[in-house]
Amino acid sequence: MGLRPNEISALIKEQIKHYDDIIEQKDVGTVVTVGDGVSVIHGLDNAMLGELLLFPNDVYGMVMNLDEDSVGAVLLGSESTIKEGDEVKRTGRIIEVPVGDEMLGRVVNPLGQAIDGQGEINTGKTKPIERVAKWGSWQENQLINHYKLVLHQFDAIIPIGRGQRELIIGDRQTGKTAIAIDTILNQKGQNIYCVYVAIGQKNSTVAQVVEKLRQGGAMDYTCVVSAGASELAPIQYIAPYAGCAIAEHWLDEGKDVLIVYDDLSKHAVAYRTMSLLLKRPPGREAYPGDVFYLHSRLLERACRLNEENGGGSITALPIIETQAGDISAYIPTNVISITDGQIFLQQELFNSGFRPAVDTGLSVSRVGSTAQIKAMKQVSGSLKLELAQYAEMQAFAQFGSDLDAATKATLDHGAKVREVLKQAQYSPRSVPTQVITLFALKYGYTKQIAVEKVKEFMDGLVENIQMSHPEFITEIETQKVISNELEAKMKEATGAYVDQFLKTQGAN
Ligand code: ATP
Ligand code: MG
Repeated sequence: MGLRPNEISALIKEQIKHYDDIIEQKDVGTVVTVGDGVSVIHGLDNAMLGELLLFPNDVYGMVMNLDEDSVGAVLLGSESTIKEGDEVKRTGRIIEVPVGDEMLGRVVNPLGQAIDGQGEINTGKTKPIERVAKWGSWQENQLINHYKLVLHQFDAIIPIGRGQRELIIGDRQTGKTAIAIDTILNQKGQNIYCVYVAIGQKNSTVAQVVEKLRQGGAMDYTCVVSAGASELAPIQYIAPYAGCAIAEHWLDEGKDVLIVYDDLSKHAVAYRTMSLLLKRPPGREAYPGDVFYLHSRLLERACRLNEENGGGSITALPIIETQAGDISAYIPTNVISITDGQIFLQQELFNSGFRPAVDTGLSVSRVGSTAQIKAMKQVSGSLKLELAQYAEMQAFAQFGSDLDAATKATLDHGAKVREVLKQAQYSPRSVPTQVITLFALKYGYTKQIAVEKVKEFMDGLVENIQMSHPEFITEIETQKVISNELEAKMKEATGAYVDQFLKTQGAN
């Protein structure tokens, strides 16, 4: 008995023929379980974290767990057509989004598909949604000078430099989105590209924001990435990374980009949902242990590159929603520690009509005044202190009626500082006009103006200077400093306007 030689060779040939298939087996697996938007797959020994997997019927999944003998993946589409035993293929790629100038003016989902009903976007270029931050040039971030984002009236207190990461934090309905949107509107004509990432928001809210941006002409330089509240958790999870990839394309072209993540609290919740479904062990507040890495690797991608690397920048404004003003909860403390400062919005201030409701005591910018032009520094130096004194004395003055003249003067001045810092939505102010109002405040031209008239006075003053002394504005814009001569001229013009204003007030 025994095998005949030709049988043996046939067997060997047969085995060698399938040798390729045996290797390929590693790249094809079988579905063990599927449900709740996650699937466990057996056999994908070479799968990488974050890799895209192809399920039957063109449903994609993303690898999230690498276990010893199985792989856990989240599904990026409907699971209704997937069943146990189905074949799953590796793609060797991670998720990519289309990038390029064609994205401007468009609203897309986190996979880069248009959702604004204005047709497909054909860019021909894509970028992976994750990449390692450009560490080598990170130091540049500290060196921002004379480059600033025209943010808000609060530029005076919380200046933000290009490449900085500034957190906007506050309870719900305290004007967080409003500050971010105003900042985007303010970039008009500044040669800055913007990306607004909406995570877990109602589609109607996002539509309103887009409408406001369109009206303000800001969609010309803005791309909106939206993963609505009704989207699957994995789609919400990838949204900020997709937005960042779109921004990085412009960064690589040497451009300046501003990106808003609205908001990362909902992003963390989406990640928690996914992690719990994947049966990862829950940690503090039921978030998985790597939730810090979730946001740190995102925010580290903000930077300002030096000239050799193209000189571009990504400035990030992440938003975090707090519960009852608690900034010491898990996610808020994490993100505070990753950013270069925070703008803290307070419910009480908002309700009392002080809007934007920025708590000047708790808000900081660690880049600080290096991001301000000299003229702004000249007029805004003592504002924060004055506001702090005002808040302190106000609490104290509630108890006593007899106040000495100095206390009264401080209170009066503080109230006027707050009046000047109030700003309506969608009414951006340029730096020179901010300097003009703060100049009047600093040199006491508001002493004779009643608190409730301060706003009217300041609006009138700005208008007056724009009409009769436009050269002041040009000089501040170009020289970036208030010279002695300009100071004298500004004092004269401001003084004259005070007289004029008081006269018209008297006539009324
Ligand atoms: P949410 O937690 O729901 O996302 P939010 O903190 O983003 O809320 P916004 O939606 O920006 O808050 O603003 C809440 C409301 O306050 C809106 O109706 C907005 O119009 C109003 N608002 C915001 N900023 C100002 C402002 N500076 N002046 C007047 N109204 C404002
Ligand atoms: Mg909001």
